Amino acid sequence: MFQLTPWHREVLRSRMVQRAHALRDEIAAALHDAETRTALGLPTPLPEPGDEAVEDLESGIAVASVERDASELNAITEALSRLDSGRYGLCSDCGAPLAWERLMAQPQAVRCVRCENENERRRARPSLPAL
Ligand SMILES: [Zn+2]
Repeated sequence: MFQLTPWHREVLRSRMVQRAHALRDEIAAALHDAETRTALGLPTPLPEPGDEAVEDLESGIAVASVERDASELNAITEALSRLDSGRYGLCSDCGAPLAWERLMAQPQAVRCVRCENENERRRARPSLPAL
């Protein structure tokens, strides 16, 4: 059975720290963009006139991308604290150790591939209310 060694942990930690830096930069850059600030409801120093429909579309995309970055950053921050607490690398659903390949592809993963697929299937097809 695969077990994380201190070396594995350090490799994953540095990957996550790098990714977190990149995400923070992306989020910071997006928050400097006036349209994104408007769409997020933040005050804007310089409103720019332009085609409203295109601006709405663009700012919608920008907001979605900031939200995606922010949720990935949260996941990485949580994964880093799990790494410190020693609970890292075990599936949150079945408790099985996550494969090294999976952790390298997605260091912030909380579930093994099997449970992740199961989880996505359940989310995609909401269960019927119990009668
Ligand atoms: Zn699992």
